Amino acid sequence: MPEVDEIFGSNVFNDSAMKARMPKPAYKALRKTIDQGVPLDPWVAEVVAGAMKDWAVEKGATHFTHWFQPLTGITAEKHDSFISPTDDGKILLEFSGKELTRGEPDASSFPSGGLRATFEARGYTAWDCSSPAFLKDRALCIPTAFVSYTGETLDKKMPLLRSMDALSKQALRILRLFGNTTAVKVTTTVGPEQEYFLIDKEMYDQRKDLILTGRTLFGAKPAKGQELEDHYFGQIKERIAAFMEELNEELWKLGILAKTQHNEVAPAQHELAPIFSSTNIATDHNQLVMEYMQKVARRHGLICLLHEKPFSGINGSGKHNNWSMATSDGQNLLEPGNTPHENLQFLVFLMAVIAAVDDYADLLRAAAATPGNDHRLGANEAPPAIISIFLGEQLTDILAQLENGGATNSKQGGTLNLGASTLPPLPKDNTDRNRTSPFAFTGNKFEFRMVGSSASIAMPNFVLNAIVAETLSLFADRLEKAKDFDAEVKALVKEMARAHKKAIFNGNNYAEEWVAEAEKRGLANIRSTVEATQALRAPKNLALMEKHSVLSKVEMESRCEIMLETYIKTINIEALTMLEMAKRQILPAAVAYISELAGSIQGVKAAGLNADTGAQAGTLTEVSAIAASFQKNIALLEGKLGKANGMHGDSYKQACAFRDSVFAQMALLREDGDKLEAVVDASLWPYPTYSDILFNV
Ligand code: ADP
Ligand code: MG
Repeated sequence: MPEVDEIFGSNVFNDSAMKARMPKPAYKALRKTIDQGVPLDPWVAEVVAGAMKDWAVEKGATHFTHWFQPLTGITAEKHDSFISPTDDGKILLEFSGKELTRGEPDASSFPSGGLRATFEARGYTAWDCSSPAFLKDRALCIPTAFVSYTGETLDKKMPLLRSMDALSKQALRILRLFGNTTAVKVTTTVGPEQEYFLIDKEMYDQRKDLILTGRTLFGAKPAKGQELEDHYFGQIKERIAAFMEELNEELWKLGILAKTQHNEVAPAQHELAPIFSSTNIATDHNQLVMEYMQKVARRHGLICLLHEKPFSGINGSGKHNNWSMATSDGQNLLEPGNTPHENLQFLVFLMAVIAAVDDYADLLRAAAATPGNDHRLGANEAPPAIISIFLGEQLTDILAQLENGGATNSKQGGTLNLGASTLPPLPKDNTDRNRTSPFAFTGNKFEFRMVGSSASIAMPNFVLNAIVAETLSLFADRLEKAKDFDAEVKALVKEMARAHKKAIFNGNNYAEEWVAEAEKRGLANIRSTVEATQALRAPKNLALMEKHSVLSKVEMESRCEIMLETYIKTINIEALTMLEMAKRQILPAAVAYISELAGSIQGVKAAGLNADTGAQAGTLTEVSAIAASFQKNIALLEGKLGKANGMHGDSYKQACAFRDSVFAQMALLREDGDKLEAVVDASLWPYPTYSDILFNV
């Protein structure tokens, strides 16, 4: 393997490539656009395009593509070649500034949630120069945002970029009040830890459910599951190690800082953690990580499953969204400082996050809502669907003291009273041993642990950025008017500590008592995606998104509509796949076994033997009874599915029907199917079982 520093970023048109290939004035102008958001001059775009094309062509590229993230949650690309004909019948390789900055893909088949009438198929992609262009399979990929002809956003990037601007603006107001004159921008930073499963491709190919839905719709519990916890941080097998090595190499070439990897709790489950970067780049990179995991796995005869719950009864996969705020002058705003003054500033930012998460818990919950994630949240393997915040004992103690305003002893021994000058150094090594919290403070960042493994992290982050921008703006409004700044800050922190105490919970989030306790505290427990989507219609949330220019009312409504549509389609596909497996694979296997048993009994009798046929008869009775119930459940599912599909007009009601009727019936059908798996002759069983799949690699 080549040296890491040699290949790292070799397929990225990064800062050093730009610097080396562009005349100084153009480079400087571009940097200003990237760093400070100054509008880009067309002549600069022309220069960048030329340099980018030369770089890409030297590396073997023949095409370019505007790479974007429509509301399907995956990335899209349409390739154009650099070729342009010349008068003498030859060709030139060309790429103009206009082609770099604007694309016009036919957008009619991307989801728009009713925003774009189908006759208006035009959509535009606009270059996002804050995320570097890269090379993928001989195509120069240009990260872009995707908007409709009329300017509404149709993608995941646009609101993310807007939310980053909103947060920066409000955070700077607070920083100025604390006397900071050097920071020009505040960037939100994200390090998303990605969980995934790797299974053998031969097994996968035999299962319709995995192929069509990404998860197993049938499958009896294996004799051995994850109870021994012998997989967690266990030795990485050779085949997996080879996959990881190649994946790392591919990601490093793309400038993605893949850093650690280990086995997870479930058999065949693994995790990859990158070093954090700006939210925007982290989001682009996470999409590429998911894409390359799947691609590289196939090269090794493996399949990478990114679904939140591929196997029932076995831990599913999530994504830990580590999030913080960094200033352009080098501070992490969630890092407790060394001086009392820094600590007061830290507390203001900390309280802003706490207040935002408490006030907009419903939006944050919606940001993690996908049909796949419904299987995980609250199933004792991932946080419950209740949003609460883990702060750790020491910080909770400090907030309690601030709230009471008293000068009591802090747990670290220092005397804490509200005078800024006597605030002791805050704990820095706040190691988080609570793995059950959905939103945990981990020393110098927050970790949002609800996000599903297959989801784009764009929405969780634009929601986080927007809601924190909102609380910061309210804090700034108040503090800017203060006559005595220090006194007002203290009053604010005290008030906030009191108001949002209810959202702080350091205990075990998986415990049943917590569900009851949370209800007493008035915290919402939004169990399913269908309910969660309604946060996108709540007036307070619409007002927030409009105020900070992240999404308009119609854009929010379109996203809500798309989430509901996606839910309906997902359950519909799952139900149809189940029916196909049930009718064409499972039932025939059961019937074949029944015939075999009946044939055996008859054979014994016909031969005039006096042998005991009790085993055959007993098994036949058992299998026949389950098969009959299974068949009834098939008919019921068909009926309920037909009814749900016949509903029109109100997608929320229809989604409710898919959840309460279709999805519920799927569970009943599965129960019988899994019972059959446990009694039918293994040689007749039509597809690999859980133990075949999970312990095979
Ligand atoms: P662990 O969770 O295993 O203790 P770390 O705390 O070092 O490991 O980091 C976990 C993830 O959090 C990594 O992806 C890392 O890049 C990310 N991270 C660390 N600091 C920040 C930060 N300031 N902002 C965003 N993400 C961060
Ligand atoms: Mg973590």
